[in-house]
Amino acid sequence: MTTTISIDGAAELLRPPTDGLSYLRHNRAGELRLDPSSIAIADGRIAGFERDDGAAVRIDATGCAVIPGLVDCHTHLPFAGWRAEEYELKVTGVAYEEIARRGGGIAASARAFAEASDGEVLAQARSLVAEMLACGTTAFEGKTGYGLSVDAEARAVRLGRELGADRVTGLFAHAVPDGYDADAWMNEVDALAAACEVDALDIYVESVAFANEHLERLGAIAAREGVALRAHVEQFNANRSVPVALAAGARSVDHLACLHPDDIAPLAAAECAAVLLPGAELMSAERTPPARELADAGAICALATDCNPGTSPIVSLPLIVGLAVRRYGWTALEALLACTLNAAWVLGLSGELGSLEVGKRADVVLLDEPISHVPYRFGRNPVCVVVRRGEVAWVRPDAAGRVSA
Ligand SMILES: [Zn+2]
Repeated sequence: MTTTISIDGAAELLRPPTDGLSYLRHNRAGELRLDPSSIAIADGRIAGFERDDGAAVRIDATGCAVIPGLVDCHTHLPFAGWRAEEYELKVTGVAYEEIARRGGGIAASARAFAEASDGEVLAQARSLVAEMLACGTTAFEGKTGYGLSVDAEARAVRLGRELGADRVTGLFAHAVPDGYDADAWMNEVDALAAACEVDALDIYVESVAFANEHLERLGAIAAREGVALRAHVEQFNANRSVPVALAAGARSVDHLACLHPDDIAPLAAAECAAVLLPGAELMSAERTPPARELADAGAICALATDCNPGTSPIVSLPLIVGLAVRRYGWTALEALLACTLNAAWVLGLSGELGSLEVGKRADVVLLDEPISHVPYRFGRNPVCVVVRRGEVAWVRPDAAGRVSA
């Protein structure tokens, strides 16, 4: 079966400056092109940039911006339940230690994950993936980390695969489970990494969790397993984890709200992405990372939702784009680069996803407004049609008239 689609007459079509780029450093974001164009799709791939008058499906893109499918390179899917009560405690001034004493925090999500059946976990996660698709996300990464035991972490890997996450990351070192100290749990992390089929390994480095020495050890484990190293670092404190992550060959360092000024230049020069999570920053009243400086220095910047029940129950990348533009002093193009090509690179998928190029997977999103409106009309979802793997995957009801077959 070959579906052909012609997306006709877009006012703006987002293209990289040249084809074949694995990523684009942020000081070059201004080179992205935004010309009027059409786009033809065949056999699940982008076939060209002119109308295909014989296409089986036609999509009228008059007045639309057409962008690559958005890539969410940092989520904690799948998880069970939510923690809304905890959010209210947090915003009304109850300290995290007190919330944890009342049974909240990661431990609460671990209990919910343990109590939910596989079917319940997957049903919740699938409804979130559907919401993400309606917001333009066509590929995403999911992490383990709410297991807090060897068996439950292995179950989380299995459920991430069943969910269909494009990448499954073993965040085995998320919190130190009861009955372990951090060193002893790292022995279990080592064994889990050897036993489970994951695409990357991740760690939460913070005073309440793991330390730089554990990040260094995880780097060695990731190298042994031949998978990418990622790390949650500098979220609430400056632990100077970035030099450790760079020395360990990390693919990305994520959060960075408390990035030390001396670490900006080495990170910007490295082939390691700065994954920024402005939704978590807002919801947890974190500091703002030096994102303008990172972009100007030529870092590979990426954006993600950090979708999780504790600090960022957010699924919308257009919302994240709006937050990034306002908090970081970024242009709309810089923010879109960060959740398309560079986000795909974080996941090792930029040969296939993240930009509109002939031969790439046909993940294409229509916005019913110019790109400049995405951050400006903050909180509005501009996504009206989503094509995923060369098939029309979602049409907003009021845009049904744009699609004819
Ligand atoms: Zn996270």
